[in-house]
Amino acid sequence: MGNFLDNDIKFVAGVGEARARLLERELGIRTLGDMLAHYPFRYIDRTKIYRMAEIAPEETSLLQVRGRITGVNYAGAGRKRRFTALLNDGSGRMAELVWFHGIKWIEKRIEVGREYLVFGRPSFFKGELSMVHPEIETIEKAFARKAESGMQGIYSSTEKLSSVLGTKGFYTILCNLWPMVRDRIRETLPETLRSRYGLLTLRDALYNIHFPQSPELLRQARYRLKFDELLGIQLNVQARRTSRMAKNNGFLFPKVGELFNTFFNKKLPFPLTGAQKRVVREIRRDTVSGFQMNRLLQGDVGSGKTLVALMSMLLAVDNGFQACMMAPTEILARQHYATFRRMLEGLPVRVGILTGSSRARERREALEGVADGSVGLLIGTHALIEEKVRFANLGFVVIDEQHRFGVEQRARLWTKNAQPPHILVMTATPIPRTLAMTLYGDLDVSVIDELPPGRRPIRTVHYTDAARLRLFGFMRQQIALGRQVYVVYPLIKESEAMDYKDLEEGYEAISRDFPLPQYVTAVCHGKMKPEDKEESMRQFKSGEAHILVATSVIEVGVDVPNATVMVIESAERFGLSQLHQLRGRVGRGGEQSYCILMSGEKLSKEARTRLEAMCETSDGFRLAELDLKLRGAGDINGTMQSGLALDLKIANPTLDLQILTLTREAAAEVLRDDPGLARAEHAGLRELRRRMSGREEIDFSQIS
Ligand code: ADP
Ligand code: MG
Repeated sequence: MGNFLDNDIKFVAGVGEARARLLERELGIRTLGDMLAHYPFRYIDRTKIYRMAEIAPEETSLLQVRGRITGVNYAGAGRKRRFTALLNDGSGRMAELVWFHGIKWIEKRIEVGREYLVFGRPSFFKGELSMVHPEIETIEKAFARKAESGMQGIYSSTEKLSSVLGTKGFYTILCNLWPMVRDRIRETLPETLRSRYGLLTLRDALYNIHFPQSPELLRQARYRLKFDELLGIQLNVQARRTSRMAKNNGFLFPKVGELFNTFFNKKLPFPLTGAQKRVVREIRRDTVSGFQMNRLLQGDVGSGKTLVALMSMLLAVDNGFQACMMAPTEILARQHYATFRRMLEGLPVRVGILTGSSRARERREALEGVADGSVGLLIGTHALIEEKVRFANLGFVVIDEQHRFGVEQRARLWTKNAQPPHILVMTATPIPRTLAMTLYGDLDVSVIDELPPGRRPIRTVHYTDAARLRLFGFMRQQIALGRQVYVVYPLIKESEAMDYKDLEEGYEAISRDFPLPQYVTAVCHGKMKPEDKEESMRQFKSGEAHILVATSVIEVGVDVPNATVMVIESAERFGLSQLHQLRGRVGRGGEQSYCILMSGEKLSKEARTRLEAMCETSDGFRLAELDLKLRGAGDINGTMQSGLALDLKIANPTLDLQILTLTREAAAEVLRDDPGLARAEHAGLRELRRRMSGREEIDFSQIS
């Protein structure tokens, strides 16, 4: 593209081939521009130097001390080998500085008797202070380095990377990079917008984000960079909406036909709730409007979204179209398939299923059936978006538990047709309404805010492991009443092996305490063969198994109304929304249900807050809000991004609502005058839109 900032980062002094490769692999930083956009996530005051005696034992943030090295030592052997240096600042406490790797390098740089500035994270063991892998610099060198405002950025890194490239390393690279790029930064915003919103130039913003000249300039820099990101999103969102509305090519479902009516009058096992009726009406209205529907359906776990989806799909079939529904897991897809087959028995519609593990025959039947139009409803997983799946006449798409799918996957489903089908996206993870409207501006939002009648609130308690006997006693009681129990173990990718060990041990313990033939315990986790998983689920659904020991594969959607107890092991390791989802697996029938959160005695403050919140409320919206508050910005961005496939580096749509509102205004105004951003002064905006589109190249005509 001829943009200077696209040059390889390896050409910057202090980087070189090896580090460049590491940067790309670990952080995705490949170009000068990428490095420039690797903003510090925090700043520390480098003018502040702690006296070691004053460091509080609970202090864990990075800080700076200054002292003389009074001795060095080698300890341990082999992989445990370490190099230590004793630092004394005369305050009455000394610190042990420890290195496990890079020993050769560091020992050459440390001279006993010399004074150093040391930057690192304090930790205390039996009252003794130590710092592992601190950054260390002679006093002379440290003072020679320009102090500027005294604020120094702290850059996120990874474990692998941090041993070769610490905060000082990033700082040095940026110092070398800046003079190269300073005059090559292209402004993205037209002058009119910049002055209206009082924003720094992009160049000043980038300078101050890395080298803050004052706290105020840092604030303005952050503001400006957030503005860019959110404006980029808004330009995408609004352009998508406009093009969708301009096209006027939505499929028409004018008829409420035989299928819908027979189902409604003869098959519906219970009356719809008011909220379900309202949403069905909203979808009806959309599908006769002539516009393509793009609707987000939010409803708490157990609020009955599936039924709304089914009825909407029947409308499509009544009008001569096919419909499909994509679920995030195999189990959930199979469950929907079974439910629909049962509910639609005797009605003139063929239901097919297609998942990654569909056998040849099932696959062939699905593929042929959708291609020749004989399959009216196709249920499945990601497999639905494969190239090979060709519908004769796809008119309606449902995406269940949307937070699991990215924008791109949605877009791929849309493009299965020359004319885009109506889209219904369902989620039980609510995001605050204003946020939904702004971020998913191209979606209309429906809410099911009412649970089916007769649901009793689930009683939630928190037990520590010491109460396990009591827990088992309670499980026996419930099983004696004819009910069933879930026992769920966390599964966190990084430590998979360990997680499975927990689960397997738990399963053994339960099998021992709940022996055959009186008790049947089934097990279900991601590493099992699909047919074994299915068999376990079948046993549990049919009531043959009393207990299901599982990982969080059952987190979303599984529906076994006779299960009344949800035991969540190591509950402190789950996030709030996951806990809430899991709890939603019980309380689905008329019986009193229970959620039991098991954890160790020792809990972080945050984990305790989460567990307490779970015990206090079962309102998904309240929990979602608390969740947003509790989690760090990075984490929220991560979630949002996985939902939206966006690349937010600094803005946090939840916390930066005000900027979000301004950018919405700004985008609307710009697009009103120049819908295609074709004008020369909008070149920068085009670039912003492209960058924030969530995909390499975006074709608006296809997405809408
Ligand atoms: P979710 O919104 O979490 O996907 P489901 O669609 O799985 O919830 O529904 C949860 C349970 O509630 C199911 O067992 C379903 O049959 C039942 N259900 C749905 N709608 C109603 C209703 N109007 N009255 C009674 N039960 C209902
Ligand atoms: Mg569901």
